[in-house]
Amino acid sequence: MKAVRVHQYHADPKIDDIPEPKLAGPLDVIVKIGGAGVCRTDLHILEGQWAEAMNPELPYVIGHENAGWVHEVGEGVTNVAVGDTVILHPQPSCGLCLACRAGRDMQCENAFFPGLSDNNGGMAEYLRTTARAA
Ligand SMILES: [Zn+2]
Ligand SMILES: [Zn+2]
Repeated sequence: MKAVRVHQYHADPKIDDIPEPKLAGPLDVIVKIGGAGVCRTDLHILEGQWAEAMNPELPYVIGHENAGWVHEVGEGVTNVAVGDTVILHPQPSCGLCLACRAGRDMQCENAFFPGLSDNNGGMAEYLRTTARAA
């Protein structure tokens, strides 16, 4: 699939051909991206301002403000089905840790952040996220 990847900071990202994401767990959802917003954070990423905090291995796919259609679901997913339109929360959270149970999902112990960390983001044809983020 085509994807926009950061190869180095202080340089334009490149459009690369990379493998499509695969389901990694029973609550995972693969989304066919319909739209991926460009956020000021993406500009900061390209300037290297997030490098120390998130420490992503380059190259990786940016894009954390995503929407599209459900393409594939894990065996435990019940809230969305293939073909549904979805808007995605940027940071999938577990819903089970103390922070999540207190309503502080952004402090989730088990969260990942597609587009900001080592997890590929949504400036691509497909994105892996979770049921809870859809
Ligand atoms: Zn943003
Ligand atoms: Zn959590």
